Amino acid sequence: MEVSPHCPDGLSSGGFVLPSDRNPRKSKLPRDVEADIEYLYRAVPQLAKVFHIIDKIGEGTFSSVYLAEAQMLDGTRETFALKHLIPTSHPTRIAAELQCLTVAGGTENVIGVTYCFRKEDHVVIVMPYVEHQAIVNIIESLSFEEVRLYIYHLLRALKHIHQFGIIHRDIKPNNFLYNRKRKAFALVDFGLAQGTADTKIEMLKVDLTTPCKAPRPVFGERSLNSCTPTPSTTKQAPSKIELVKPSKSVPLASRGPKLVETQSSRQKAQRAVQPGLTCNCYLTNQVCNVCLSRRQQVAPRAGTSGFRAPEVLTKCPNQGTAIDVWSAGVILLSLLSGRYPFFKASDDLVALTQIMSVRGSKETIQAAKSFGKAVVCSWEFVRQDLRKMCERLRKCRLGEGALLPEDGKDAVATRDLKIQEVPPSHSSASNDCQAAAAEPPALNKQEHPGSQETKTLFTKELLEDKQGWDRVPEEAYDLLDRLLDLNPRTRITAAEALQHPLFKDLRSSRVTNTTDAQD
Ligand code: ADP
Ligand code: MG
Ligand code: ZN
Repeated sequence: MEVSPHCPDGLSSGGFVLPSDRNPRKSKLPRDVEADIEYLYRAVPQLAKVFHIIDKIGEGTFSSVYLAEAQMLDGTRETFALKHLIPTSHPTRIAAELQCLTVAGGTENVIGVTYCFRKEDHVVIVMPYVEHQAIVNIIESLSFEEVRLYIYHLLRALKHIHQFGIIHRDIKPNNFLYNRKRKAFALVDFGLAQGTADTKIEMLKVDLTTPCKAPRPVFGERSLNSCTPTPSTTKQAPSKIELVKPSKSVPLASRGPKLVETQSSRQKAQRAVQPGLTCNCYLTNQVCNVCLSRRQQVAPRAGTSGFRAPEVLTKCPNQGTAIDVWSAGVILLSLLSGRYPFFKASDDLVALTQIMSVRGSKETIQAAKSFGKAVVCSWEFVRQDLRKMCERLRKCRLGEGALLPEDGKDAVATRDLKIQEVPPSHSSASNDCQAAAAEPPALNKQEHPGSQETKTLFTKELLEDKQGWDRVPEEAYDLLDRLLDLNPRTRITAAEALQHPLFKDLRSSRVTNTTDAQD
């Protein structure tokens, strides 16, 4: 066992009391949820000895999360979140997620872990349940003060995990739970986390530059799946990684962004250290057999493109904790403008174009150059004044106030965008890739799919005075500007951001509050 807490096959009851009846109430759950719960009880029978599973509260590509209740030894009942990882998850990945939670969790707005169950290839992480409201449902009613608090607490969580050398890589509202009533916050989901060079998390110390090593047993002798390291596979089957569209004859104006690459750049792409494209299963910088055959599931591991930093979007090899800070900036931008999601992009190049439309194309190109990437964009975007833009977006009703200039719309649809390595940054002869980002930014669309909620936004303008939106201090936009610094080297850190004048009063009140240990 290398990971603590252990994932025992059996459970000697510690702190819990066995439930007398698994289904004490008449269930009103949808049938598919009931079926999922039954499946989980069958897959990990030890759970039934401790928990009454009440509902399913989350479902992603890599896990399902359930709300469960347990009777404690002192007679009280407590609620827990049970995260059931998909059985094909890789052992190293599971171990890394658990270790982030055990080492860094349980304090500073980072969720902790109570227990972990395993039966064969089923792993269930037990966490305290944090009742929360989805930002998308409450964004229209958030006051400025709440937004300020939310970002402050997010930055505290980031400062904390960054001190451990953890890069979360998937910072977004769905992973930062907010309980409005209790003013409680919890950073969850270390399923994509990676380590900095000096990370304190053993399982994140994956050396991506060394060649293939034998797999490390993580949960005892038995591997959680039949994945075997075959480093040559990626070379033999390059088309399996759908990073690129190999065709060179993609018309620039065709719908949907396309990547057009040379053979050598494709080869480079397979070898490059790209989150989501290297699986990290066997400490190599390649994709193992299992991940190759499951590439559809591997790809989304890269996170959510609308929250990704420019250095991630341009595949800069040196990515650090600054990428989480950028994502926090996107969240602040979203909350200040009342638009969620703010950037909605179908791929990285569309996302980069959307960033340029807010932060300026010249500025983006210049920042990219500083980390070795040449971005070529045929359309020039002027850097937006953040306050003006946010105020305009917050006020404008559906159908009004497009962000981009009217005459820019058509040009945006046909512009093209190229990203190249700036020679002589790396030795490879030809690494250029070229793309036509043929989709206008989501910003420009008044109706992106799946966001009917936008239609109900901004209909309560009168409320705004009371919510403090008429008095947003300059500091808020100054911090936003620093979080959304295109250059990761000069971008503010989470620790520095907590010292920003925007949070002056929170810092001093914190000093007096440090004795109220729990929050
Ligand atoms: P995934 O990797 O599938 O995104 P997450 O860890 O982000 O898994 O969990 C998915 C969702 O489940 C979260 O967005 C949240 O709504 C819910 N969830 C996760 N952990 C908790 C928790 N401790 N308390 C309450 N809800 C949780
Ligand atoms: Mg998540
Ligand atoms: Zn793998």
